[in-house]
Amino acid sequence: MSAPSRDEILARLREIRHPKSGRSIVELGMVSGIVIRGSNVGFALEIDPAEAEELEPLRRACEEAVRTLPGVTSCTVVLTAERRPAAAGDPGAAPAGGSGPATARRTRPKIALPGVRAVVAVASGKGGVGKSTTAVNLAYGLRSLGWRVGLLDADIYGPSVPRMTGARGRPTSPDGEKLVPVESYGISMMSVGFLVDEETPMIWRGPMVQGALQQMLGDVLWGELDVLVVDLPPGTGDAQLTMAQQVPLTGAVIVSTPQDIALLDARKAINMFRKVDVPVFGIVENMSYFLCPHCGGRSDIFAHGGARACAERYGVDFLAEIPLDLAIREHADAGRPLAVFAPESPQAQAYLELARNVRDRIEAQLGRPTRRPPRIRYL
Ligand code: ADP
Repeated sequence: MSAPSRDEILARLREIRHPKSGRSIVELGMVSGIVIRGSNVGFALEIDPAEAEELEPLRRACEEAVRTLPGVTSCTVVLTAERRPAAAGDPGAAPAGGSGPATARRTRPKIALPGVRAVVAVASGKGGVGKSTTAVNLAYGLRSLGWRVGLLDADIYGPSVPRMTGARGRPTSPDGEKLVPVESYGISMMSVGFLVDEETPMIWRGPMVQGALQQMLGDVLWGELDVLVVDLPPGTGDAQLTMAQQVPLTGAVIVSTPQDIALLDARKAINMFRKVDVPVFGIVENMSYFLCPHCGGRSDIFAHGGARACAERYGVDFLAEIPLDLAIREHADAGRPLAVFAPESPQAQAYLELARNVRDRIEAQLGRPTRRPPRIRYL
């Protein structure tokens, strides 16, 4: 049985009505970013953020309606909202219904992750510093050390894990409740990029962030993991703070470029984790120096070493310096993880060093995993 077309899905959704207005959700223009991959369907429902909780039954009704179409085995729907003007450097905007620090600091229950031993967040004060590249390579570095690793792409504004890891397919849901993560080169991963079209601009508000996180983190069959690496959205806004509070984090890794301005943002990120009592494992200086692909020579383009100084000043560790390097970008953009495709390269070794440092910090807190690590075999 082949999957339904986009039009057939829309025809089914046209029958579903907004509970308040009574109008069809398709006519209201609420449906966007439909993705059909094999028998799996995903899309976004654009809503007024004030109605996020109220419309959870509508979201589920949409999933159910599409899942029961012939040729569909799973359907995942996420709620998104039009963005309200956000503070500079805060792509998360504030949650609806009164925001600000008082809301932000409200304690939220942590999402339960049975079977997951440690959770490490990779964060940055602003976008474009190489946070996702670092998260992906850190995850594969930890895998190379023999750990069982999961990777959650919580960067809901710009999910890049599917592209950077070459992961294909969509999470399945045999019981219609829990999602089975996508497996790529020995790592279990989950990303909103698997659920909706990567081209769809995703705009989220506080209550939706919580719902999405529950869906992508708590409602996932992660199995037994030694570590789950979480790629957080860039910035230190309310959405990021919500995640830092809700995810049971063992520690955080802050990624920064050497320029001062990025470092100022890095300081904000350090403070954010301190506010919610999450240990900061340390800072990674990305694009630390330029490695010439022709002669292998090194040039300090930016004021190299700023992150080390920042780490010292803030009493956190300096974890690694990663060069600005063509191979790093090419492997990331081609979805060919360095640890798998060029494990002996100096670039992969730099990330392995970062992974060792992170592993040591996790073990210092939790002790060593008791079982023997599995042998790794890449095909
Ligand atoms: P962020 O998650 O901080 O927004 P990304 O990880 O998506 O940033 O990186 C942005 C771009 O920079 C990507 O094209 C990525 O391949 C590239 N990039 C990241 N780190 C490096 C590096 N060390 N050397 C070269 N290119 C890099």
